[in-house]
Amino acid sequence: MASTSQQPHFILIPYLSQGQLIPTIDLAKILAGRGSIVTIITTPVNAARFAPIVDRAVAAAGLPIRVLTLEFPAARFSLPAGCENRDVLPSFNLFRNFSDAVRTLEQPASELLDRVDPPPSCIIASQAMHWATEVAARRRIPRLIFDGTSCFTLCCSHSLQTSKIHEGIPESERFVVPGLPHRVEFTRAQLSGLFNPGAHLDVSEIREKIRESVDRAYGVVLNTFEELENEYVAECRKTRGGTRKIWCVGPASLCNTDDVDRAERGKTVVNNGGGDESLCLRWLDSWPEKSVIYACLGSLNRITPPQAAELGSGLESTNRPFIWVIRGGYKKEEIENWISETGFENRVRGRGFLIRGWAPQVLILSHPAIGGFLTHCGWNSTLEGIAAGVPMATWPQFAEQFYNEKLVVQVLGIGVRVGAEVVVHLGEEEKHGVQVGKERIAAAVEELMGGGDGSVERRRKAAELMEMARVAVAEGGSSFAGVGMLIEDVAKFASQDESEMRTTWKQLVGS
Ligand code: UDP
Repeated sequence: MASTSQQPHFILIPYLSQGQLIPTIDLAKILAGRGSIVTIITTPVNAARFAPIVDRAVAAAGLPIRVLTLEFPAARFSLPAGCENRDVLPSFNLFRNFSDAVRTLEQPASELLDRVDPPPSCIIASQAMHWATEVAARRRIPRLIFDGTSCFTLCCSHSLQTSKIHEGIPESERFVVPGLPHRVEFTRAQLSGLFNPGAHLDVSEIREKIRESVDRAYGVVLNTFEELENEYVAECRKTRGGTRKIWCVGPASLCNTDDVDRAERGKTVVNNGGGDESLCLRWLDSWPEKSVIYACLGSLNRITPPQAAELGSGLESTNRPFIWVIRGGYKKEEIENWISETGFENRVRGRGFLIRGWAPQVLILSHPAIGGFLTHCGWNSTLEGIAAGVPMATWPQFAEQFYNEKLVVQVLGIGVRVGAEVVVHLGEEEKHGVQVGKERIAAAVEELMGGGDGSVERRRKAAELMEMARVAVAEGGSSFAGVGMLIEDVAKFASQDESEMRTTWKQLVGS
């Protein structure tokens, strides 16, 4: 690809999961739309997953985006052929094999960057691709992190890491996270794996590498917007002696302005995304405004069959129209057995729309009939709910999802808790059994969708945030400016001479 000296070349290296790939494709479109060259590095199966979206961006919009692939050594690590994404990992026991296979991508990625033309100006990688630190250091180009996280979460993590307040506190005792703009309380059992490791699999070494990669990053690109969490953005900038570079560029999902892109985002044959979205849209058209609850627990969704039965029964007992996404990655047959043996689908026919496989989430959330989102609080889903102006029933499950719940319910005032109390680490689903009963699910949905004062106020705030999100990404908005500043910073870095570059590098990453 031809370039001009003012046109930085961004290399994007997402982690191999839907939650990382999807926003990275959005980011590619955003950066390319503002005049940068973008190369996405991933594996063949993942490249095929988003090829239609990239092809359309290149062909229809003329954006300079290209995808380069690295062979994934699945067989060498005893993984099934084609197992190149976390959502097709057959068992969590293979997680270490998967991580080890991902780790081997460092050398081929590095060699690829030696050949790529024009030369790369910057790497933007998921923090889980921690080896990108070395790849960037070898070329003396900045490495930025782009991850599915908010400034609120970064601040919580920073405070826990420096204060160590959680250490020695009994698992279920509440404590206040020090130094945050709001009084935020957690129990140790609600913290992310960095502070609350699971017993099933020791991934402490990987976590340590990730932590180090965050510390050594040139800066952080965040899928958030300043107005959403300005006090936390300010707090984040104060870290690293006030030199931390933070660029807020979201909500990234808003770059999908037509229904074809919204429908195809993340969808593949692999994740059973062959469903007919027009059927779902026609069904939604038949309901009044803000009357339908949309329930989806993310791309991994590993709730146990008994817990899924409680969710289905809870939705049924609300007597409200609902969409329930049964992703079907975990114990799918048992869940299907419950559905058919109990006659669930017949009882809710007409009022309940079941999606088996991949749902066109952003498309659904943007439909006027949607009045509430029952979510697992993954950051992408949370922000997509915010961007669509939809209040949420929050059901965090793992990773940093309890932090996102706190932001949604307590700080932003647009959510109702379903009542989950402890992190269910991936691979430990059976240990917890049923975490939330159908009565609590139904009560949370009722509180969210009913016409009480709380519900009206949540809806008002959600609509206000949606408007702010749209303004942020539009020309003149804060995220639009964030993208501009990011591109400018990287272009400036690339235009320095060798010795200036070394000094800047040392000041910023200390090596
Ligand atoms: N998603 C979707 N359809 C599905 C499940 C998930 O489009 O059936 C998308 C969702 O819109 C979001 C991403 O997958 O962009 C999930 O990311 P998130 O951070 O919410 O959670 P994770 O799946 O990583 O736990």
